[in-house]
Amino acid sequence: MNKLYPWQDELWQRWTGLRARLPHAILLRGAQGIGKFDFAMNIARALLCEQPLTGGLACDSCSSCHWFQQQTHPDFRLIQPDALSAQEEESESGKKPARLISVDQIRALGDFSSLSAHQGGYRVVLIHPAETMNANAANALLKTLEEPSGQMLFILVTNKPQQLPPTILSRCLALAAPLPSPAAGTAWLQQQGVADPAALLAQAGFAPLQAARLAEEIEDAGEYRRFLQEIGRPAQLDVFALAEQMQRTEPARVIHWLQQWCCDLGSAKLAGKVLYHIELADVIRNLADKIMVFDLLRYQKELLVARREAAHPLNSRLLYESLLLSYRHMVLGGVQP
Ligand SMILES: [Zn+2]
Repeated sequence: MNKLYPWQDELWQRWTGLRARLPHAILLRGAQGIGKFDFAMNIARALLCEQPLTGGLACDSCSSCHWFQQQTHPDFRLIQPDALSAQEEESESGKKPARLISVDQIRALGDFSSLSAHQGGYRVVLIHPAETMNANAANALLKTLEEPSGQMLFILVTNKPQQLPPTILSRCLALAAPLPSPAAGTAWLQQQGVADPAALLAQAGFAPLQAARLAEEIEDAGEYRRFLQEIGRPAQLDVFALAEQMQRTEPARVIHWLQQWCCDLGSAKLAGKVLYHIELADVIRNLADKIMVFDLLRYQKELLVARREAAHPLNSRLLYESLLLSYRHMVLGGVQP
């Protein structure tokens, strides 16, 4: 977990040059998708590491590094919008997680900065993406930066520094994270097993991590289409083969696909309308004719329960087998093909 990207060596040297006289705050800026966040984490880990390697990277084996692996380091705080911590998941209450960093999140640092470091060394606060601080949060941070306390380093990571107040910018030492050369970006993507790396890299504005995300999306889209094709033909559906094929895909995602599919089945059944899968409207209407509303409701409830438990499934293949068997049963009314 302690690797710099190949295009970050020079940037790391600039950072190690600062080590002797550390500023209170660093602004790490640069394009989206070039590994700024990972670089900032490397700074934090290295600064708190008990026996950094030659070259300055963290050792990955001391107790401080171990705390980082467990995400429980007492001298480190990561401040980011709730939406990033919770990923795309909506909370149980149906309330969407916040997309901005709130003033409460910054104020909560008060206790952290007033205590002395657990390990007697530095304390590090990483704010990411810094431009998502709302105005109050930025003001609260400014107060903290104006009265720096002891050995404490703030790392602000951003690809939109122009959205940060000049008062904050002026208190940070700026480090510009570089975009790799197209050749270096392509080589890295190739190592990650990305097909057609040069074209994807260009499409992603030469930001390699962004290109890797694009590649993942393209792969997911293919998988999604294949999944819909299978469940669109329940009489031919090989439940066990499909469950095995899908076992590496995140349960929350697969369940979401099934929920949308069922939503369309219900809407086609009751109102003759298809909302999500317009290109498969005929297939869905056809299936909707065969199913009983009661069976559909029962199956949707089963999906809801599965979704709630999906964060820690014991075995995703078994989960998919069970959900797909129920699905086939619902559509075919218990008639085994
Ligand atoms: Zn270490």
